[in-house]
Amino acid sequence: MKYIKNIDGTYQYRPIAGTTRLSPHSYGIAIDLDNKYTSYWLWDKEYRYKSDIPQKIVDIFEKYGFVWGGRWYHYDTMHFEYRPEMFERVL
Ligand SMILES: [Zn+2]
Repeated sequence: MKYIKNIDGTYQYRPIAGTTRLSPHSYGIAIDLDNKYTSYWLWDKEYRYKSDIPQKIVDIFEKYGFVWGGRWYHYDTMHFEYRPEMFERVL
């Protein structure tokens, strides 16, 4: 519960930090969990990946078509984004 009790945000019309591109939050397809327990590459003094998000939470989001920012090179472990097309299988 501590990861989702005080979420950091869902819909917010804004650019991706450091860019002029719209964030997925601008389209209402992303959610950020409590940033107290997460890592974001731009906020880290040293670029060193670390995630405290339980795998069970990641598995549940991915089961329902969300990609997790914790899998990105520019990690953002609080971020989940609804992108079901990325999980579709091509027959
Ligand atoms: Zn986010």
